[in-house]
Amino acid sequence: MTKSEIIKAHNGNCRDRDEDIRYIILHCSAYPPEKQLEILAQNGLSAHYIIGRKGRVFENCPPEKVAYHAGQSRWLNSEGSSLNGCSIGIEIEAPRLGQTRKDYLTATTRELCVLLTKLMYRFGIKPSSVLGHSDIAPTRKSDPGVGFPWRKLWQMNLAVYPNLHHLVRETDELKLLQTIGYDLANLSAARYAFCRHFMPEEVAIDEDMQRLLDNPYPPEFTPANWDRYIQRLRATVYAFQADRALRSLYQS
Ligand SMILES: [Zn+2]
Repeated sequence: MTKSEIIKAHNGNCRDRDEDIRYIILHCSAYPPEKQLEILAQNGLSAHYIIGRKGRVFENCPPEKVAYHAGQSRWLNSEGSSLNGCSIGIEIEAPRLGQTRKDYLTATTRELCVLLTKLMYRFGIKPSSVLGHSDIAPTRKSDPGVGFPWRKLWQMNLAVYPNLHHLVRETDELKLLQTIGYDLANLSAARYAFCRHFMPEEVAIDEDMQRLLDNPYPPEFTPANWDRYIQRLRATVYAFQADRALRSLYQS
């Protein structure tokens, strides 16, 4: 078996798509793939792919079908109550729920990058459309966690990341968060989700896994370094807008 061979493990929790695939949503789970497959099946859920710590990749649902991985979620101008219909979901094994860099082994990240490259090419998905579960469900979810290697993905053009040399002029926090795509129904949760993804130094590591699952964000959260936070937001908006514009030129 070659390293990148994908093991089929469909559980039938899926439906036909009636929307185009626009996003790839990254998740993490503390369990190895076999246990994750069991839990998903028992709960009527599914993910398109599951990547284990040893680099094994399972396909739980074909990408042409809708899997049940995102739950209640919103991003940008999304319609309805969930992004399931327009996304592909990938679960990655991370024993401490992705809270430290060590959670993501080189083998796991390598397999993730191989898979992302294939899917993004096949379905025409932009780096700015590769998101974490906590980005689209900030009040409910913390995965793939503050230790997730977003910068590594960005270096391979598989995600976007802020470059502090390029800032938009806008300085209004709400407008900036909204332009990136965050749902502002709960500002504290949106701020924390942004920091978890783009400004990890603002995020505290929670030793208690159950508490993290139950409370993915601190209520009344305000970033400690406000000026730096606004600067990071302005750079992130620039990165998202540049990526979105570039791809639309190719498509026209
Ligand atoms: Zn998730």
